[in-house]
Parts: sequence; structure tokens; C-alpha cells
Amino acid sequence: MDIVKELRALIGASGVLDAAEVATRSAGAFRPDTLKAAALARPRTTEEVAAVLRWCRAQGISVVTQGGLTGLVHGGDAQPDQVILSLENMRAIEGIDPVQRIATVQAGVTLQSLQEAADTHALAFPLDLGARGTATLGGMAATNAGGNRVIRYGMTRDMILGLEVVLADGTVVSSLNSLIKNNTGYDLKQLFIGSEGTLGVITRLLLRLREKPLTTNMAFIGLDSFDSMARLLKHMDRSLGGTLSAFEVMWQDFYKLVSTPPRGKTPPIPQDYPFYVLVESQGADRELDDQRFNNAIESAYEAGIVADAAIAQSEADCQGFWTLRDSVELVLEGGAPIIFDISLPIGEMDNYINRLKSALPEAIGSDHRLFVLGHLGDGNLHVIVQVPPADYPLARPRVEALVYGGLSGFRGSVSAEHGIGLEKKPWLSISRSSEEIKLMKMVKKILDCDNVLNPGKLIDSM
Ligand code: ZN
Repeated sequence: MDIVKELRALIGASGVLDAAEVATRSAGAFRPDTLKAAALARPRTTEEVAAVLRWCRAQGISVVTQGGLTGLVHGGDAQPDQVILSLENMRAIEGIDPVQRIATVQAGVTLQSLQEAADTHALAFPLDLGARGTATLGGMAATNAGGNRVIRYGMTRDMILGLEVVLADGTVVSSLNSLIKNNTGYDLKQLFIGSEGTLGVITRLLLRLREKPLTTNMAFIGLDSFDSMARLLKHMDRSLGGTLSAFEVMWQDFYKLVSTPPRGKTPPIPQDYPFYVLVESQGADRELDDQRFNNAIESAYEAGIVADAAIAQSEADCQGFWTLRDSVELVLEGGAPIIFDISLPIGEMDNYINRLKSALPEAIGSDHRLFVLGHLGDGNLHVIVQVPPADYPLARPRVEALVYGGLSGFRGSVSAEHGIGLEKKPWLSISRSSEEIKLMKMVKKILDCDNVLNPGKLIDSM
């Protein structure tokens, strides 16, 4: 059977790439390899998505749905005998309603395009992350992406009002609710949000927009202890009257990496503090917001919480502070990074990182670097262990055992915002009980009994 020919008959010649064309495409962010698949289908409509799924299911061919390929857990990896379903030809922003404050978009729309479209209506889609130009809203919904403003607005899940989804058998379930309050039974969209392409294909989204903030205040702060950092979070949240929009933390090694020229930016404050915080507040009144923000920093300084602070004086300063935080790609230089995305109680973090730091040399030798950063208000840390490339295969499982093993004592999460994919599947039981995993498998069985959709990702089939 000629898969490419059959799919072309369904959705047109230009809608399908063959295996050789697929192999010219990158496998995604931070990946040296290219895609593999029997074919890549890129339908233009929901009906075409349904047609592809119906046909693949009838032929016993499994389907891997892909968004912008910015995920970090191998959730979108495909095998040479599978079909990739890409939503790249479904990129329409179908409508923005400034009164209801909602946007209706097709799944292939990028985060940045929606942010820009909302902006023209003086509205905002406030979820933000470094991959905004490439990450698609369908992919972000399927993985429940987080990012830098979760502390104020929540995860992708919290911004979705409704979804249109195609099931494995081609059934189109339109659940395009536009109401904030709609307590009418099971909230079916939640099944698909964070399901990583295993339960259905998201084709259209109804998203909640917010009023666009008119002012931004930022500071870059140095602190003498972890305890001060935790106190500063409470202090700023309390002092800023609900306008705190980011509280991004960095341990000293990461700050040094991103603030050392020529690759890093010039440091806004000296490099000798053990901890750093980027604080952002967004409001609506220039004069009042400046006053409130500066007072909050000043009182933190007087209370001995803050050791040093640089307050942004311009839009360029704000951009500069965010560039420091977002320069995570510098961990790729000088070694191979093993990247983690964990959640744990704030009160456990300092001990956890110190224990990890002291256990690493025995596990993988002293030739490594440890970088820690994260979203303190969300209890989410990104831990990065950089090792010499030659050591990577041996070091990776040892570092995983340390990082994940350290979480089991207090049921931390092996994934705060990146998802499970293939990479974290072996560790799922640290964060989820056997009853929970069994129920997930039952849901998978009901919605996709033939195991067509992204098989083997997130959970094994029953
Ligand atoms: Zn993050």
C-alpha cells in the first residue's frame, strides 16, 4: 500500500509530504536529528483531519500529532512506519471578540501571532514563553504549557474556554464553549488538555483574553539566602496588590552564565550573590504603579530581605532583564545539558538543591556544572546538569535517579510544565499513584481503543 498516494487522494497532493521530504525537517528545538515518518499530512480543515484519522485507523497506522516541535520531552517523536499529522496549514485566527474578551483560533496558530492580534484590540493573551514564535496554541493546549506568567494567570489550561477535537475514529467533538461559567456536567475539554496527543487531535480553540496591562515595572534583585528569596515572594505579592506578574529565580551559577560577556549580557548587579530574582509587576497607572513598585522594593531592602537591586528605568532595561532569564540556550555551550522541569514545595527547595549538589560528584565525577533557575511562585524549578558530551550516555540515568529520586519523599512532580512524553514516562509513578495511572489507561482505552494516537507516549497502553 502506498501511504503517501492514499493520503494525497484524501487531502490533495500539497497536503502530504513523503518520507524523504519529512527527513529534511528538524526534529525540533535543541535537537540535532531530523524527523522520521512514512508521511506527513498537513490538512487544511477539521474535516480533512477527520478523514486522515479515519483512514489511518482503518489501515492500522498510528498517528503522531505535531505542533511547533518546541517540546522538550520527545512527546512528538515519530517512527518510520507512522504518519505525522501537522496542524501547520491551520493557522487562522478566526475571530477576536473584544467585548466577550475571547479569541477563536485554529490549532496551528503560533503563540506570538495571537499575542500580536490581541494587542491590536488592546487585549492580551498573557501566557508567555521563550518559544513564542514557534510554539502553536494547539500544541500548548495538548501539553498544557506553562511559562513565565503562570503566577498571575495560570497555565494554558486556565486560558481555554472551549475546544474542537477530532477523536481517533474521526468523530468531531465541538466543545467550543465561550462562557466563563458553564457548570453543565463533565468538563470534557480538560481530558484533552495535557493529554499530549494521546486522546484526540485539537483542531480549534476558544481562548480567554485579558485587558492589556498598560504599565510594566521590573527589578533585578540579588539576595544572600534562599530564605530571603522565599520571603521576598510573599513581600512583593502582598505589597503589589495583585499586580505581580513574574517572579523568576536564578541560582548564582546560572546568573554568572548568562551575565558574562561576550555571550552573556552585562550584569545589571554584581555576580557575587548566591540568589537572584527578576520581579515584574504589570498595572494600569504609570505614576501610582511606579510609586507602589519602588516602595515595595525599598521596604524589602529596609527589612533586610534584599541585598542589592537594579530597577528598570526603560523598556530596554526590561527587555535586558528578560533576555538574561531567557538565555537558557547558553547551557548548550561547553557541554551536553541534561534538563529537568520539576515541582516541589518552596520550603523543600533549598535542601533539595543542596543535597543534589553534594551527591552529584560521587555519581558522575566532578567534571560537570549545575544550573538552577525557575518560577518560584509556581514551585517550579528547572535543574540543568551539564556534562562533557562523551559522559552523557552514562551520566544521564545516574543524574535522573538523583533528581527524581529526591522528589519521591514529598511527592514532587517529575514534570511541572514540560509534560511526560517518552522522556519521563519511566518516572511517572513518582508523581501519580497506581490508581491514577490505571484510570488514565482506562480513559485512553475508551477514547482510542486501537491505540492509534501517539502510542507509547505518556503511558503504556493497557
Ligand atoms: Zn519554565
